[in-house]
Amino acid sequence: MKVVKFGGSSLASAGQFSKVGKIIRSDASRRYVVPSAPGKRNAKDTKVTDMLYRCYEMADAEEDFMPLLKKIQERFESIINGLNLRLTLNKEFELIAENFRKKAGADYAASRGEYLNGLIMANYLDFEFIDAAQVIMFCEDGEFDAERTDELLSKRLKSCERAVIPGFYGAMPDGSVKTFSRGGSDITGSIVAKAVRADIYENWTDVSGFLIADPSIIEKPEVIKVITYRELRELSYMGATVLHEDAVFPVRKEGIPINIRNTNAPEEEGTLIVESTCRQPDYTITGIAGKKGFVAVNIEKDMMNSEVGFGRKVLAAFEENGISFEHVPSGIDTLTVFVHQEEFEGKEQQVLAAIHRLAQPDSIDLEANLALIAVVGRGMRSTRGTAGRIFSALAHVDINVKMIDQGSSELNIIIGVQNSDFEAAIQAVYDIFVVTQI
Ligand code: ASP
Repeated sequence: MKVVKFGGSSLASAGQFSKVGKIIRSDASRRYVVPSAPGKRNAKDTKVTDMLYRCYEMADAEEDFMPLLKKIQERFESIINGLNLRLTLNKEFELIAENFRKKAGADYAASRGEYLNGLIMANYLDFEFIDAAQVIMFCEDGEFDAERTDELLSKRLKSCERAVIPGFYGAMPDGSVKTFSRGGSDITGSIVAKAVRADIYENWTDVSGFLIADPSIIEKPEVIKVITYRELRELSYMGATVLHEDAVFPVRKEGIPINIRNTNAPEEEGTLIVESTCRQPDYTITGIAGKKGFVAVNIEKDMMNSEVGFGRKVLAAFEENGISFEHVPSGIDTLTVFVHQEEFEGKEQQVLAAIHRLAQPDSIDLEANLALIAVVGRGMRSTRGTAGRIFSALAHVDINVKMIDQGSSELNIIIGVQNSDFEAAIQAVYDIFVVTQI
């Protein structure tokens, strides 16, 4: 049994819908479908979700939102007409306009993209439609209520052979609509897969899987065939985006793999995300990702190493100011704390004062505009010389390494370089592991 989620670009037009229809009909085990709202049809287009947010802003400001709402309706109608469906959304749009006037909230507004696309999809496939507000539940504090949802959803789907459940939203205990964060239909797909104990959760998008590196930096990077949840987590955290970060949690606990597939190239196998695998990756590394915009806070104090509690006091200074740290490499009498520049800038003098007050260091020195790059791979554990290869590749292109951090899991090596060396560093690492493999 498969749960299939389709992203916005897979459902942006009637043409895309019919590709999706073919994919679903070609495999009878694809029984539960989670659609996003219509996305962009081309680079200049606007996502329906963004149109809905804008439209609601106008309603909230008592401006005339009807022309924009009409435009949104036209986008859905062009899909309906293109598919020759006998379905009208007039009543739905009347209700939406009425609820906008009553200020039903931005979450309600945004959720209508998925809701209406779900209605169209159910009609097109002749599947049952299940409103996510009936089965996806949030707690009073706005957190997702996993237990209650699983109970409701698995019960509801037991009696239902084939269904469409719109992504992205659910309901608060008082019945009002609440959405996940942007891109949250991925989470809904995962929740549905867990509820029906699916064999696989297929996540259909517009790329042929997870790429080894960012295609805006590396020309035509290769696709990762199999990746573990932990590797994915490391790469996503460092900026690689394909799947919503929170989408792994529901299925991960159940051991359900996720398969990232391409609606525009369904013959390709895509990327399989699994808990664990014996399959060695094709290369020593599984992927490379990184982020710019870090600051290194270098703290020095003679005899630091023998002072019990020094690290705790330093980190307390960051905690006091609500700043989370990324990495804390240390030397004998030095300790460096890597933080996000954006988060740190406004509070830097308070943090420095707090470090002085709490830890009495000899000196503190700041270095800004740094980038962190994560080289991730389960293959590194059984291979010697990975770090050596990374550093010789970087030395070869004249890049100075500012920081090195290898986690004890041996799953990744983090390197710090200057922002201006970021792209060249990723290229050098990709080249040595994937292109030349020396
Ligand atoms: N439509 C929503 C968004 O644009 C949710 C999603 O597509 O997953 O963020």
